[in-house]
Amino acid sequence: MGNSATEPVTQRHAPDCVFCRIIAGEIPSERVHEDEKVIAFKDLSPQARVHVLVVPRAHLRDVTELAQEPALLAHTAKTAQKVAAELGDGDFRLIFNTGAGAGQTVFHVHAHVLAGGKLAEGEL
Ligand code: AMP
Ligand code: ZN
Repeated sequence: MGNSATEPVTQRHAPDCVFCRIIAGEIPSERVHEDEKVIAFKDLSPQARVHVLVVPRAHLRDVTELAQEPALLAHTAKTAQKVAAELGDGDFRLIFNTGAGAGQTVFHVHAHVLAGGKLAEGEL
């Protein structure tokens, strides 16, 4: 497992991580976008008409680690915008649950993109 100090953070990979396994194609997903930096796929348990996860390929724990790679954070946000424009009407809510107490259950950073019609205010 590559988390050595010499490895570039953008190449981190964790074999036991469900999202690393989706990225590797070992677990199926309904992909709506992929490029060299991120993939985006439909959430298994959708909370809105459009509910997509934008996931950097690098195994970073959460948005605070992602913020140490500003270009990758920006690319994640731009990908969310693209997905919302293609699958919804362009408006979207972008959520990074950060820490177990805030509802994070998968510790590989992912942005929830909620879109497609009027969104209720509330919990994710
Ligand atoms: P969070 O609770 O913010 O860590 O979000 C994790 C999200 O991943 C949840 O909304 C789950 O429904 C979703 N999820 C977990 N496993 C899969 C999977 N195999 N394919 C798609 N979405 C998944
Ligand atoms: Zn991972």
